[in-house]
Amino acid sequence: MQPTTLFDKVWDAHVVRKIEDGPDVFFIDRHFIHEVTSPVAFLGLETRGIGVMYSNRTFATADHNTPTINQHLPVEDPLSANQLKALETNSAKYGISHWGLNNPKNGIVHVVGPENGITLPGMTIVCGDSHTSTHGAFGAIAFGIGTSEVEMVLSSQCIMQPKPKKMRVNVNGKLGKAVTPKDVTLYIIAQLTTAGATGYFVEYAGDVFENMSMEGRMTVCNMSIEMGARGGMIAPDQTTFNYLEGREQTPKGEAWDKALAYWKTLKTDADAVFDKEYTFDAADIEPMITYGTNPGMGIGISKNIPTAESVEGGKATYDKSLNYMGFGEQESMLGKKVDYVFIGSCTNGRIEDFRAFASIVKGRKKADNVTAWIVPGSHIVEAQIREEGIYDILTEAGFLLRQPGCSACLAMNDDKIPAGKYAVSTSNRNFEGRQGPGSRTLLASPLVAAAAAVTGVVTDPRELL
Ligand code: SF4
Repeated sequence: MQPTTLFDKVWDAHVVRKIEDGPDVFFIDRHFIHEVTSPVAFLGLETRGIGVMYSNRTFATADHNTPTINQHLPVEDPLSANQLKALETNSAKYGISHWGLNNPKNGIVHVVGPENGITLPGMTIVCGDSHTSTHGAFGAIAFGIGTSEVEMVLSSQCIMQPKPKKMRVNVNGKLGKAVTPKDVTLYIIAQLTTAGATGYFVEYAGDVFENMSMEGRMTVCNMSIEMGARGGMIAPDQTTFNYLEGREQTPKGEAWDKALAYWKTLKTDADAVFDKEYTFDAADIEPMITYGTNPGMGIGISKNIPTAESVEGGKATYDKSLNYMGFGEQESMLGKKVDYVFIGSCTNGRIEDFRAFASIVKGRKKADNVTAWIVPGSHIVEAQIREEGIYDILTEAGFLLRQPGCSACLAMNDDKIPAGKYAVSTSNRNFEGRQGPGSRTLLASPLVAAAAAVTGVVTDPRELL
């Protein structure tokens, strides 16, 4: 038998029909929907007089434009309120499970799927959000889709997709002090550039990912699309199975045993060939921070901003980016003043991220010049924060815990960074205006965010641990 990759195994098991010289018709196991990209898709179904094919494979949660304070009160913004209402109404009409505001299972779509056991190895998963790649951490093929595709999946449970090429990214060795999964992914993107994986689906392999928690793997797969990849995935292993066992919607009893036997086959064969392969050494990675306006413009926190010649996109892009950020060539990032700190999002809004944040905050105080938004990825994460005593550490240090949602990741609610202000953010994009018009985003890990939050400037977290 021809050796195959994990990606091929999952992809080929879901092809309903091959179109000659065209895309594959591809079956979707799980479809996550939210309030922003679903209303137009449902309108399309209405117009065409058709329904939802598999409502039991479709899951709705409200997250993108929800407020992160006073969620018990009516949502003030009329557009957001309408979209939230539409999600509720459409879910009820088509029999779709809906976790709206104040539902104890509500939270960011890519946080609640895995934590409730909806995301499982070997599945195909889509959502009208780019960072659907997160679910690849479980050995699933997961990717973001557009509104018209949301309608296509609602109505047929299938999607037409050309098969991407395959890339493997290996990181071997042992990570250094304060180097987290976010640093690993920012390092890979800095090496490969934001277009480095365009047209590919990435499998992450090597010691570093094998030794990584599921939360960490989700952070890495989440960021895959920031280097242009269609998605990223990691072979399921005992860490995956331990995470999943007993979660609300995972199979139970005999069904679990059967599923487990299948999941154990989901790995790349020894001699399988990838279209492209990269290998990095864990020892070369230090805590990372971005200085520019795309996630590839990242450096080790102790390094200086590189020269224009060494950066993707040419001098004009580089100058525009640094001008927007208010930084200069070869400057150090250490010591730069920070106005806002945001910990949250589907990249770093899980319990492990808040544990890391608290490990630096414990016994210290929030810097006076910093406004901090501490936003759990879900109500379940919020409950864990309280149960584990992290809430007490945060409040003693002068931080407030907000309610779950996407928040300042894309600033569709009130959590907007003001123009010209600097935010150290654990989210995934630092594009111009991503966190609010004129906002300046420095992407980093929860440890770097915590170090900035207590010192008021960009600080190497290794000094505080
Ligand atoms: S946190 Fe950001 S990237 Fe993640 S689902 Fe929300 S808007 Fe999308």
